[in-house]
Amino acid sequence: MELKITKTTAPKAKPVDENNLPFGKTFTDHMLIIDYTEGIGWHDGRIVPYGPIEMDPATTTLHYGQAVFEGLKAYRCPDGKIRMFRPDRNMARLNVSNDRLCIPAIDEEEFTKAIMELVNVERDWVPSAPNTSLYIRPFIFATDVFLGVHPSHTYKFMVILSPVGPYYAEGLNPVKIYVEDEYVRAVRGGMGFAKAAGNYAVSLKGQVVAGEKGYSQVLWLDGIERKYIEEVGAMNIFFKINGEVVTPALNGSILPGITRDSVINVLKSKNIPVSEKRISIDEILEAYNNGTLEEVFGTGTAAVISPVGELCHKGVKMVINNGEIGTVSQMLYDTITGIQSGVIEDTFNWTRIVE
Ligand SMILES: *Cc1c(COP(=O)(O)O)cnc(C)c1O
Repeated sequence: MELKITKTTAPKAKPVDENNLPFGKTFTDHMLIIDYTEGIGWHDGRIVPYGPIEMDPATTTLHYGQAVFEGLKAYRCPDGKIRMFRPDRNMARLNVSNDRLCIPAIDEEEFTKAIMELVNVERDWVPSAPNTSLYIRPFIFATDVFLGVHPSHTYKFMVILSPVGPYYAEGLNPVKIYVEDEYVRAVRGGMGFAKAAGNYAVSLKGQVVAGEKGYSQVLWLDGIERKYIEEVGAMNIFFKINGEVVTPALNGSILPGITRDSVINVLKSKNIPVSEKRISIDEILEAYNNGTLEEVFGTGTAAVISPVGELCHKGVKMVINNGEIGTVSQMLYDTITGIQSGVIEDTFNWTRIVE
């Protein structure tokens, strides 16, 4: 696909203080747009100045939420090159989400190249301070103007870019997580495995209630028995119990995180036992009570590894590893961010150079 490029005539000033980049508030000068029209397919790929888009009030997305997204990062490396982390996996997952929400498939390689071209146009926006990166947000939404419920005949694929620092202002400090037993995020047969905007809308209430109790994140349990562990709002979850690392198996209501997959691969390469299985909250409580719950951490593109210092379930507070980051969590953070930023050799062939 040939992209038409229109450069801005009013470039913005780049952030001066790269050590204090707020997450997702500053956007670069340009964005990518590709339209979809039934009968034509994806067409009119273009890079244009970043700015508002006009929408008819009857645009279906605003009413029925036919919208999906992705999140990935590009890093400025010590060798001067810019690398993206596993973009092929994001585009493959976008098609899984598309399929679930009746959105037409994209050409994964062609769209990856279009994103790389946008990043290349904005390469001066990729920050270089430690723990910073360029966050890439691709998204697709329905654009039919019609108040009927059916899959749209037209869509927009867009990509915006934001230079970011660490996701949590606290950095790698452990977070406090509330185990939610009233609200649920997803059920099997629903769209929990898709990266859909609606999955976030449904999670806000639990998030707000937990926030009022002093917890920064929610750990979701399964929607039927409220017993089996699913994931944290925007992260998958791992537990180290008695030397073995476990994470909930992908069951249809959990988002298959790319960081989750990377963590499993790094653990295997270091011969640390790791397994994917159904885990109940009772097993976690039991491990906590008998002193074998050694580490808990979340995984996701935004934070990479997020150590969990406390889990609260039905009033029981489990303080993990004295509220400090564990050695396996730290090793995983160092290894994955090392590969992402080009400081550790990428033996997995995960990164792609933007040129
Ligand atoms: C994006 C996301 C994750 C993390 O996935 P990564 O590919 O590792 O960034 C986990 N859970 C949910 C609900 C998500 O939307």
